[in-house]
Amino acid sequence: MPYALDRLPDLSPYGGHWTTTTVPASHTLGDHPVERGLAHLPDVEWQYQPDNCEGPPWGDEYLDGTLELCPGCGIDVT
Ligand SMILES: [Zn+2]
Repeated sequence: MPYALDRLPDLSPYGGHWTTTTVPASHTLGDHPVERGLAHLPDVEWQYQPDNCEGPPWGDEYLDGTLELCPGCGIDVT
């Protein structure tokens, strides 16, 4: 389950921070757009925006596997 926007985990081990973004239903395979955390990591440039993301529907693990980020656009897909 993705983290609630007010409970996003601390990205400071990576020197990163969060913003929030509206993710279209096409990305989450849901019925409605949703607000999700979008990770900003200093060494990572996401290739896509959430609304045109072609990343796979699984995430890369961070923070010892407690967080998964879309490898295409950096949203929380935990
Ligand atoms: Zn994505």
